[in-house]
Amino acid sequence: MVSFLTQTLVGQRPSVTTGGNSHGVWQWWEEGVLTFTPHKAVDQALLLSTGIHGNETAPVELLMPWVDNLLSGKTGVAWRLMVVLGNPAALREQRRYVHTDINRLFGGRWRQHPDSTERERVQILEQMVHRFWHAGAESRRWHLDMHTAIRDSFHPRFGVLPFRADTYDTEFLRWLGSAGLEALVFHQQPAGTFSHFTSERFNASSCTLELGKARPFGDNDLTAFTETHHALEALLAGAPIPDVATEPQRYRVTQQMIRQSPDFILHMAEDTWNFTPFMKGTCLAEDGVRQNCVEKEEEYVLFPNPNVALGLRAGLMLEKI
Ligand SMILES: [Zn+2]
Repeated sequence: MVSFLTQTLVGQRPSVTTGGNSHGVWQWWEEGVLTFTPHKAVDQALLLSTGIHGNETAPVELLMPWVDNLLSGKTGVAWRLMVVLGNPAALREQRRYVHTDINRLFGGRWRQHPDSTERERVQILEQMVHRFWHAGAESRRWHLDMHTAIRDSFHPRFGVLPFRADTYDTEFLRWLGSAGLEALVFHQQPAGTFSHFTSERFNASSCTLELGKARPFGDNDLTAFTETHHALEALLAGAPIPDVATEPQRYRVTQQMIRQSPDFILHMAEDTWNFTPFMKGTCLAEDGVRQNCVEKEEEYVLFPNPNVALGLRAGLMLEKI
C-alpha cells in the first residue's frame, strides 16, 4: 500500500482496501479513514484524528510515518485504532476549509447548513465513527483530535476538553499532561466539534489538542512536537503513562463572544495571543446594545476572531480553576 497520506491526497480509492501483518488487520473504510485491529485482544479503542482543518499540517506530518509503519507491520499497537484525516479536500488545498469550518458541524449541526464539501464530509465522519465504536465493546474509548492554532499563545500547547456531565478519566488527563500540554480548557456547554461529538454520543474521553502554530507542509518545526510525539508513540505501544513534573494549568470557559450582527466589534488587537489576561470590568466585545465584559477578577481570551460568520463564536473567555 502507498503511504496513507499520499493516497488520501491523490483522492483515489486504493486498489486494496484490507490487509494484515504479524500485528493485526487493517481496513481502509473511506477516503482518509483507516482502522487497525490487533490480533491480540485489547480492551481499549482509540480514535486519532488530524487534518480536520486543512492548513494544520504539523500533526499530519507527525502521525503519518507512524501509520505507514503500522500498515507495513514495522510497528504494532496496543489499541483497536481508527485514524482519520478529517478534511481531505481542504488538506489538498492546505486551507482551513473549502466552504465552511467542519469543526462546527458535528452532532447533526450540518442539517442547518447548505450543501458544501464539509457538510458532505461531516456526515461520512459521523457514520464512520459510529461504525468504529460499535465494532467493539472496549471499556476504554479515547479520542485525540490533533490541531495547531492560528495565533501565538502564552501556552504553546494546550487541550480543549468538551463539556461532559461525568468527570474525566484521570489517566486520560494524566496522558495529556505527559504529552506536553501546558493548559487544559474545560468547556461548559455543548459544541459542534469532533471531540464534543465523540464525547457526547459515544462517551469517549475526548480532547482537541492544539499543538503549536499552523504552518504549510514541509515548513513545520517538528522538533517543537517531540514531547507530544514521544507520548503518543508510548501510548500507542501500551506503555504506562509517566508522571508529569508540572501539571497543566486548568481553565474553564466563563463566556462565549458571539458575532450576532454586522455591527459586532471585538476590542482586541488583530494579533492578540491566546490566554492573554484581561482585568475585571474590561469591555471585550460589543454587538449593538449587547456587551461582553470581564466579570471575574481576571479572564483569559481563547481563539479571538472577529471575522467569523454571523451567529458564530468570535472568542471564548476563560478563568483559571
Ligand atoms: Zn484546527
